[in-house]
Amino acid sequence: MLGLALEKKARVIIASTSEVYGDPEIHPQTEDYWGNVNPIGPRGVYDEAKRFSEAMTMAYHRYHGVETRIVRIFNTYGPRMRLNDGRALPAFVSQALKGEDITVFGDGSQTRSFCFVDDLVDGIFKLLMSDETNPVNIGNPEEITIKEFAEEVKSLINSKSEIIYKELPTDDPKIRKPDITRAKTILGWEPKVNRREGLKLTLDYFINKVKKERQPSAI
Ligand code: UDP
Repeated sequence: MLGLALEKKARVIIASTSEVYGDPEIHPQTEDYWGNVNPIGPRGVYDEAKRFSEAMTMAYHRYHGVETRIVRIFNTYGPRMRLNDGRALPAFVSQALKGEDITVFGDGSQTRSFCFVDDLVDGIFKLLMSDETNPVNIGNPEEITIKEFAEEVKSLINSKSEIIYKELPTDDPKIRKPDITRAKTILGWEPKVNRREGLKLTLDYFINKVKKERQPSAI
């Protein structure tokens, strides 16, 4: 893509990730933090691939003058997620709707900060239209433990599911929260949808989806 952008004199935006910070030792994460990634752990391929793509992006920018942008996307959610993609929100929602046990990994004290998809899209667009070539965090700094998140989903759905605890995956980051000072200052961007509002919109989508799955098709 960088080669094509160079050839076509196009602007290119790279979708990077908060995973470049690995299991972070500073909190919240600012863009100038270099991260704490285990290169040979089970998450290493994803994390290092994203770090390498950032390195290549900056090299194309510095050496070839390609107009590049790098967005570091933090946990995002919203309608049209796949129910079975394995991530926390769809897993909890689908378990709560079906009355199955809600599976929290570890003791649930690890934190994440969830951004509603519309806010993310707005941030990405603003970054693309800006002149900023350094990485920019786009995420919602509203931080929550995974245990509280599971409880929140369960209570919003009014579900009778039980919360159970399973083994924590290796190298699961303990904390994650974006410092969005750069996005605020340079792009004039900050999230507008809080988690309650965002979850409501997302749950409406999931409830309809599960209902449809249960109804046999008319055709
Ligand atoms: N998680 C969980 N139960 C699940 C799926 C995920 O407790 O069924 C935890 C996971 O271990 C992590 C957090 O929820 O600590 C967020 O996981 P997700 O896969 O959504 O995103 P990421 O790990 O990339 O932040």
